[in-house]
Amino acid sequence: MYLIANSQSPMLNPDRNPLLHFLVRKFVYDHFTAGENESEVKATIKAIKQMGYKGVILGYAKEVNVTGGEKKHPKAHATIPDPSDATIQEWKEGTLKTLSMIKKGDILAVKYSGAGPSTLAALSKGTSPPPKMWAAMLDICNAAVKQKSRLWIDAEQQDFQGTIDQWTIDLMRIYNRSETPVVYTTMQAYLKHTGNNILKHLRIAQNEDWTLAIKLVRGAYIATEKRSLIHDTIEATHNSYNQIAKNLLQQSYPGVPSDRPYPNVALFLATHNDESIQRAYAIQKSLIEAGKPIISISYGQLQGMADEVSCSLLQRCQSAQSGETQLSKLALAPHAFKCLTYGSTQECLQFLLRRVKENQDALGRTKYWLAGFRREILRRLKYFFLLA
Ligand SMILES: Cc1cc2nc3c(=O)[nH]c(=O)nc-3n(C[C@H](O)[C@H](O)[C@H](O)COP(=O)(O)OP(=O)(O)OC[C@H]3O[C@@H](n4cnc5c(N)ncnc54)[C@H](O)[C@@H]3O)c2cc1C
Repeated sequence: MYLIANSQSPMLNPDRNPLLHFLVRKFVYDHFTAGENESEVKATIKAIKQMGYKGVILGYAKEVNVTGGEKKHPKAHATIPDPSDATIQEWKEGTLKTLSMIKKGDILAVKYSGAGPSTLAALSKGTSPPPKMWAAMLDICNAAVKQKSRLWIDAEQQDFQGTIDQWTIDLMRIYNRSETPVVYTTMQAYLKHTGNNILKHLRIAQNEDWTLAIKLVRGAYIATEKRSLIHDTIEATHNSYNQIAKNLLQQSYPGVPSDRPYPNVALFLATHNDESIQRAYAIQKSLIEAGKPIISISYGQLQGMADEVSCSLLQRCQSAQSGETQLSKLALAPHAFKCLTYGSTQECLQFLLRRVKENQDALGRTKYWLAGFRREILRRLKYFFLLA
């Protein structure tokens, strides 16, 4: 996979080599991605929703200049001017096309760095976005509002993240004026300063009276990020993630001034970690049962990853439907989403490489589930031979 993903040879380009295309599709692509074109993507979304998911998050895999963490960000690109603005236009059209494939309640995944060199330069210098890029971003948000979809802005490497936060606050200021937010920012719990950063966001939202919508992740750039910025151990990252989720759910974030109404918050837990999900769900359940105020919470995993975690959420959703009161039926049903990516096989290669690597790590975590799968296969084999 590494060889194919990083080669310039047409022989190793799955979009040009039919045999390679077949192999990559069958062995990896079909497992992790939604499809190469609109009809394939729509069929995948339909199948996902039929399983009981509340909705999908859809992103376009094509990565312009910056890849998602494994490759070092080529700083040189940040200074190359973008005279034609063609990349911004291409990014806008690709993003709007992606938006057109999802429906009401679904979420569009947006990466600012995809908008090309002039945007990268602004991100790394900490300046305002290029006017054409910002105009495109507002058009994308307006189109999302029109079809009652939402969007989230992905978190990227720290060179850019301060500026990404700032631009996203500017969007939330415009689009999150009601309790149902349109724009979600992303917070990476593996960073030591994220607790304070969330407090800063809460204070701004409180002062200006808009809804702070947070997608909470652990963080994907540990291999390339300055190590001292990240918690020293994985346990510290887990604690940070769970504590942030708890404080947000209980609306008791330390440091939020109490002389004004607590700000509106919406939370999206984007994680494959079952323990974090169980903890958050238990907190939300106890708040509902105690009749205390709650915030909106949703959960999401990547397609082809942690299906056992996603399916337990669907199972909880089904059992909540049999609840006694309308309130418990609605409130206790977790909002479970699957996050999908689409693009041609070649466009998806860097994304697929990351998934293959992550799945290796995830295997260690899923020993409990593997034992369950083994038991079930044995049970079916026994059943089959007993009948035969
Ligand atoms: C739907 C979805 C959207 C996502 N969007 C983004 C995004 O926009 N930006 C982004 O950066 N990531 C994003 N991610 C990836 C995410 O940040 C994690 O890399 C990935 O989900 C694995 O973490 P986990 O929460 O599933 O839990 P686990 O697999 O239990 O935790 C693994 C994570 O722990 C942290 N970690 C590992 N080792 C150490 C260590 N030694 N010290 C400290 N911390 C350590 C790392 O963050 C690692 O990814 C997304 C994930 C999902 C599911």
